[in-house]
Amino acid sequence: MRKISILGATGSIGQNTIDLVKRAPDDYEVVALTGAQNIAQLAKDAIELRAKVAVTADLARLEELRTALVGSGVEVAAGVSAVTEAAARPADWVMSAIVGAAGLAPGLEVLKQGAALALANKESMVCAGALVKTTAKEHNAHILPVDSEHSAVFQGLIGEDITAVERIIITASGGAFRDWPMDKLAGATLAQAQTHPNWDMGQRITIDSASMFNKALEVIETREFFEVPPEIIEVLVHPQSMVHALVGFKDGALMAHVGPPDMRHAIGFALHWPERRHLPVERLDLAALSQLTFRAPDEKRWPALRLAREVMATGGHAGAVFNAAKERALDHFISERIGFLQMAEVVEEVLHRLSAQSGLTNAEMTLDSVLEMDHLARNTADEIIANP
Ligand code: NAD
Ligand code: MG
Repeated sequence: MRKISILGATGSIGQNTIDLVKRAPDDYEVVALTGAQNIAQLAKDAIELRAKVAVTADLARLEELRTALVGSGVEVAAGVSAVTEAAARPADWVMSAIVGAAGLAPGLEVLKQGAALALANKESMVCAGALVKTTAKEHNAHILPVDSEHSAVFQGLIGEDITAVERIIITASGGAFRDWPMDKLAGATLAQAQTHPNWDMGQRITIDSASMFNKALEVIETREFFEVPPEIIEVLVHPQSMVHALVGFKDGALMAHVGPPDMRHAIGFALHWPERRHLPVERLDLAALSQLTFRAPDEKRWPALRLAREVMATGGHAGAVFNAAKERALDHFISERIGFLQMAEVVEEVLHRLSAQSGLTNAEMTLDSVLEMDHLARNTADEIIANP
């Protein structure tokens, strides 16, 4: 039996992971499940999967979780540090599906105990790629990408030499506003931004898809994961979301990964790696697909993509600043304090204000240095929003 934990178990990726685990319950011993607000779901899954411990990140919900699990034999805990402690409990494989930079510290604990880290939490690669990778190396731990594009690239590279790669293309659906006229974008509402044409995902990543901040994070994630130069990473808008990524080799061959927009493929691939096992995803009928289309993204419509290039050119802690400013701008868009287009303006302004900051370009990275930059970027974003 493999020992597994799921961090962010109540979210979209967490629930898809649980769906796969429930199909083969005898294969897994569940150590920890963590969530935050959805206590009923967390308790239900912890009982059904016989988890050792269930943790809510929200300290104020401890009693509610305790009550929901009374008599079940499942241990309960709450608070940010309890999530990190749960991540450190010995396991063979851990899904990191917390949203945002909050996933960084727990992910590092997983690597420190040498477990395989299935990484949906792209933010930790963006804000601390160097730290995440050195921690994995020091503890002989594997990191398996779960983002569909990165899983696709990872699969395209099996048996290949990375030095033979000439280009990596990741696709983007274009999100909710792909075909909107530019002059309407300023008035885009929260309700409109959180509706995705193809994928069913958490609220934050859905809005990030409409603004392309999600793809901007993924470009940086690609650079960190595969350690390729930024110039060889391309983004194409592909409205059908069937081709997730393509790897181009120096002989001109382009290998595409094709599949329906169902995260259980990438999750299942990471769960069973290095084997391939049957997964309950739709088998594509290529003859029935009327067309697959691709186009270059317009960086005026999606300035986040231009900002990602700036971040990669700066290096160091620029990723931490970029991610934190984005998270804060998104918080303010969700609370309807700023408009849709202002998110990119705020992030750009934070990057520029902090560009002279000492330590920004430092390659030396610790959890504290990343958290410090993260904190500074969030405060700067708040300041900009408060005094426009
Ligand atoms: P979600 O909002 O549906 O779920 C987030 C999970 O994190 C929940 O379990 C929530 O309880 C927990 N959480 C939230 N804030 C927390 C905090 N401060 N501390 C601890 N736990 C906290 O999000 P999601 O769509 O499942 O995305 C999770 C991660 O996976 C994100 O990094 C996202 O970018 C990435 N991802 C998601 C998809 C997708 O299809 N949903 C695809 C690729 C990558
Ligand atoms: Mg993705």
